[in-house]
Amino acid sequence: MSLQSLIQWTDATWNPIAGCSRISPGCANCYAIKEVRRMGGNPNLKVSGIYNGLVEKNANGILDWTHELRLIEARLTIPLHWRSPRRIFVNSLSDLFHESVPVEFIKKVFSIMNEANWHQYQILTKRSERLAQLEDQFNWSESIWQGVSVESQAYQYRIDHLKQISAKIRFLSLEPLLGPLPDLDLMGIDWVIVGGESGVSPRPMLESWVQNILEQCQQQGVPFFFKQWGGKNKKINGRTLNGRTYDDLPKKFSSDNSEVAKIKN
Ligand code: SF4
Repeated sequence: MSLQSLIQWTDATWNPIAGCSRISPGCANCYAIKEVRRMGGNPNLKVSGIYNGLVEKNANGILDWTHELRLIEARLTIPLHWRSPRRIFVNSLSDLFHESVPVEFIKKVFSIMNEANWHQYQILTKRSERLAQLEDQFNWSESIWQGVSVESQAYQYRIDHLKQISAKIRFLSLEPLLGPLPDLDLMGIDWVIVGGESGVSPRPMLESWVQNILEQCQQQGVPFFFKQWGGKNKKINGRTLNGRTYDDLPKKFSSDNSEVAKIKN
């Protein structure tokens, strides 16, 4: 479990589930596959024991999931032990709404999030149909943010599923952005993150796509976070757009935080 995440929009990661399977083109260069393979070879058996065997080369020589999912009960209570509040990315190496995760286990994850409610939890899924089907079985307290990933227009329907759920903060991760999204209806959406693909063979993201999404966010009053241009050298390519960075957070979260600041002062 990582207390210091490298992902700019979160503080920590919490992975009570290990393993996944590719579901759409956004998964082609899945970061989690490489990370799980790396941890599967960790000399610490406590780490490698969780991740070993979840990833292998397929018949085409491409690294892929074995489609086995592991539910790690011992990790469920981790947020209870983190005393200082932080933004926690839930299942950065899997998908909480994957079809192989039993509803009862998802309920346990929600139970911990509702109990350790001094944190903010950021859940991101590509399984928006299952999210919408199951959503009324969970208690969406104010600390739980739910997002969907959308890489191109063909997957914009995930936004419609997201709008059906009761989370206080609903957000979009448009990463890896693989095409233009010129007609976003952002009613009921609290935050938009955009990012380009990185790694060995990244697919291109055009600046015009990003500018257009920024303009739609500005027109519809939705906070915009630009994560990265990506590419083979994402550090050099950076994350500035129009000569500046865009690091907005959801207004509801920002205003809640300023209320806390006022009380403290
Ligand atoms: S859903 Fe996420 S973790 Fe699962 S294969 Fe796709 S990109 Fe990877």
